[in-house]
Amino acid sequence: MVSLENACPSFTLITQNVDGLHPLAGSRKIIELHGSLWRMRCMRCGRITENRSLELPRLPHCDLCRSLLRPDVVWFGEAINPLHLKKSLEACQGGGVFLVIGTSGIVQPAASFASIAKEHGAFTIEINMVDSEIADRDLLLIGRASEVVPQLIHANH
Ligand SMILES: [Zn+2]
Repeated sequence: MVSLENACPSFTLITQNVDGLHPLAGSRKIIELHGSLWRMRCMRCGRITENRSLELPRLPHCDLCRSLLRPDVVWFGEAINPLHLKKSLEACQGGGVFLVIGTSGIVQPAASFASIAKEHGAFTIEINMVDSEIADRDLLLIGRASEVVPQLIHANH
């Protein structure tokens, strides 16, 4: 993903992963749609802090208001951050090439992104281990993302 970002000026990575591995690998223009496990969010005042410790021996509390902190991720049934959704939709409407990589294509709203991109003139490519039956893709490439994506980048040069 970092190679793609370096090669494409208008590149945006929208991820549903909360593991923080994309930023760790060096992705910069990234929307973590479902949040990140490495951030804590105050349940009262909303203050966000980074927390890289693997163990939380005591319940963590906000430095500002002393309320309880929770992981800054979107749990099932919770709404996506509206700003993240807005930025994602803008990225989907940019045309060009839209890659859908390693997703079931079931969890909304991300499951709609390929359709939105296609409506706005993008060529949509799905890369997956199995056919997820995402309706609005122009091309399906079956295989591991770690193998298919580098091949795709090199075929482009
Ligand atoms: Zn607080």
